[in-house]
Amino acid sequence: MVYRVCVAETEQVFEAAADETILAAALRANVELPHDCTLGGCGTCRIRLVEGSVAYSEFPLALTPDEASQGYALACQAMPAGNLVISPARGFTEMPPAARHHAVVTAVRPVSARVTHLALEVPGVTLLNYRPGQYMNIILPDGSTRSFSMASIPRDNRVDFQIRQIDGGCFTQGILQRMQQGDRLEVDLPLGGFHLHTEDDRPLLMVATGTGIAPIKAMLESLMDDPDCPPVSLYWGGRTATDLFLLDEIQGWGERLFEFDFVPVLSRADAAWDGRRGHVQQAVTLDFDDLSEHAIYLCGSPAMIFDAKLSFIDRGASVEHIYSEGFTHQRAPPGPV
Ligand SMILES: Cc1cc2nc3c(=O)[nH]c(=O)nc-3n(C[C@H](O)[C@H](O)[C@H](O)COP(=O)(O)OP(=O)(O)OC[C@H]3O[C@@H](n4cnc5c(N)ncnc54)[C@H](O)[C@@H]3O)c2cc1C
Repeated sequence: MVYRVCVAETEQVFEAAADETILAAALRANVELPHDCTLGGCGTCRIRLVEGSVAYSEFPLALTPDEASQGYALACQAMPAGNLVISPARGFTEMPPAARHHAVVTAVRPVSARVTHLALEVPGVTLLNYRPGQYMNIILPDGSTRSFSMASIPRDNRVDFQIRQIDGGCFTQGILQRMQQGDRLEVDLPLGGFHLHTEDDRPLLMVATGTGIAPIKAMLESLMDDPDCPPVSLYWGGRTATDLFLLDEIQGWGERLFEFDFVPVLSRADAAWDGRRGHVQQAVTLDFDDLSEHAIYLCGSPAMIFDAKLSFIDRGASVEHIYSEGFTHQRAPPGPV
């Protein structure tokens, strides 16, 4: 069975088979739809179903049942159950174009037991243009890629990253650990649709786990000393104190941000920790009865993001104002989605 899919804004029409994802069909027909991980984990390909309905072989992690009942779907996993009229959930935001670069390592140093600060420079480029929140792909010798979010704002040809070691990780526990100043890396950047929506001028609630703080740091740096900076509440979660590798630096951000409230939260703290305990999203729901007026940014563990969306929507948060980047780790195979 083949169905007709129409993109409401552009009036582009393409055909999609009943056992084919909307994204795969769109790409085959050269119709551009925002997308990223293609595994249902990041939420970038969220669309609104203006007409029609979809089916999933497995319900995706980056979509809550609430979002689905409000007419949202993930194009990379959803298959048409009839003719459709769709609309990208957030419209098309113009992003700087991605390019392949030969980057040089200028610094690589541990910032905690499991997190490494990596600094890269791209010779011959004056300004690396990206939106704070976006990420790069490192191309490994076998051609596979690993994604890491820019942890600094665009300033010249340099960019910083915060990288957590993954047990058995080919890059984070192998290549990165042997890396030295002067080494070269092939990278593609900028990538992804996670960015600060400056048009959404609500108070900001930002929630990160672990190195999910990296793109949030870049976004908040872009707001520093900005007279239009909205009030910011930042919740940062980890398991133990060593996960909060930027604690001192973040505590100083209040001087350069308007109404900055920072709440670090640990789920497996030892007796020495006198801060908040539990899961970071639980701390938010304990502190906020009503999230209906916030713009919410979530980054890090896909499980935290899923759980946070469920409980924040329960507190009145609007799906239109939740922006998220899940650090998914399964690689989509190269080639068509
Ligand atoms: C858009 C995006 C941005 C990202 N930004 C960052 C960032 O700024 N900093 C950062 O530290 N990480 C980030 N990540 C996560 C990072 O890309 C992965 O952790 C990466 O796979 C690690 O590569 P590796 O070669 O060390 O491990 P791999 O060789 O890819 O994996 C080894 C094993 O560990 C598992 N695994 C890999 N990553 C994870 C994980 N995160 N959690 C649980 N299990 C995992 C794999 O499934 C596999 O079984 C980001 C991911 C995405 C999608």
